[in-house]
Amino acid sequence: MALSGLDIYKLLPKTNCKKCGSPTCLAFSMKLAMKKATLDECPDISQEARKALEESSRPPIALIKFGSGENIIETGGETVLFRHEKTFYHQTAIAISVEDTLADAEFLARIKKIDQISFERVGQHITIDMIALVNKSLSGEKFLSALDKILSNSNKPVILSTPDPKTMEMALKKCADKRPLAHAASSANLKEMCAAVKPHKVPLAIKADTLEELDKLSHEAGALGMQELALDPGFENLHKSLNDLTQIRRLSLKRNWRPFGFPVIMFVKNTDKYQAVIEASVFIAKYAGIIVLDSMEDDVLLPIVTMRQNIYTDPQKPVTVEPKLYKFGSPDKNSPVMVTTNFSLTFYTVSPEIEASGQSAYLLVTDSEGMSVLTAWAAEKFTPEIISDTMKKIELENVVSHKKIIIPGYVAVLSGKLEDVSGWNVLVGPKEATGIPKYLKEVWK
Ligand code: SF4
Repeated sequence: MALSGLDIYKLLPKTNCKKCGSPTCLAFSMKLAMKKATLDECPDISQEARKALEESSRPPIALIKFGSGENIIETGGETVLFRHEKTFYHQTAIAISVEDTLADAEFLARIKKIDQISFERVGQHITIDMIALVNKSLSGEKFLSALDKILSNSNKPVILSTPDPKTMEMALKKCADKRPLAHAASSANLKEMCAAVKPHKVPLAIKADTLEELDKLSHEAGALGMQELALDPGFENLHKSLNDLTQIRRLSLKRNWRPFGFPVIMFVKNTDKYQAVIEASVFIAKYAGIIVLDSMEDDVLLPIVTMRQNIYTDPQKPVTVEPKLYKFGSPDKNSPVMVTTNFSLTFYTVSPEIEASGQSAYLLVTDSEGMSVLTAWAAEKFTPEIISDTMKKIELENVVSHKKIIIPGYVAVLSGKLEDVSGWNVLVGPKEATGIPKYLKEVWK
């Protein structure tokens, strides 16, 4: 549980030496409580106090990092049970499995495809986060050879999934610098797996079929010095998994139950693709840190990544596009200019309709702090003054020669004032974006 500034103060040296840059120990303790300072800034803190403060400041769900260089994935570090309480910080990482039993050509083709999967949605570029190498052959040799192929063909972070500690150790010797996730220690191999993984300082997943067993293994792994864990509660049916995931999250957040204070990894193995989408969606919503999929077909991935994007978009920070003048087709001085707000969903609703019209056009996007047209108008973030200022800022009078601007039909009320402040002729466009092609064809001439 987080300590107050006064609780922290009691553990500090109380010499007011100022070496930390704060005038007093009390001031420093307040900064620590607000997470505006770190313990390292006080050189005189005792080991005992440091341990107590580090333990209390540890988040209820540890933040675990995989990968290296530009390919780092973070998972965990969450602080709330429900997104509306605050927000979720680290979206569920999506991995796709590759079995070491695949023939060379098929294996390489799968790696290549995983690397190339890419979706664009509301302006965000979405790719697959990780590759899970599965030791289906149970042969160390095959696993290591498959790992070599991944390492030379992809930079994505890897999940090493083998039940054999010796194979794990050999694999980690090849790629520990890329911080893979070692999966998994179980009751059958916990000590050996911890011994294989610990020297390489990479996260270890522990796997058990019941929460009681998972709790016990997590305790034991902690006692063996494993600080970075992931929890794999297995899969029996969706009902049990939903219950397991909820219990793990509740116990870690509400009871500060340290053995469960780690991200959860779930494997989606259902061969029915619709069922696989349902399972993956439930795991993302409740509250997996990593999911591993077998399927990489677009009709499976697209609903899953969309679901993830929706859940992990911070509701307090609307998704926005850059306020500026956008071009569609090859617009010239006679092309129409429409205006809208910088709420991403609005932009990506209007844009395809302009494209569908086949007409070259400009779209002026104003800064409405990410609000949609009607909301921005009601909040006075889409006013005649703001639109006019944006027009002046981008020197719209030098872009087109006709001095006509089309506003969304829902804010027709702005037209008179906008004409006054801008000196432009204001045309009222359709209320719905779907009316744009017809409007451009029949009204705009
Ligand atoms: Fe207090 Fe440590 Fe800061 Fe000195 S460096 S004032 S002992 S908190």
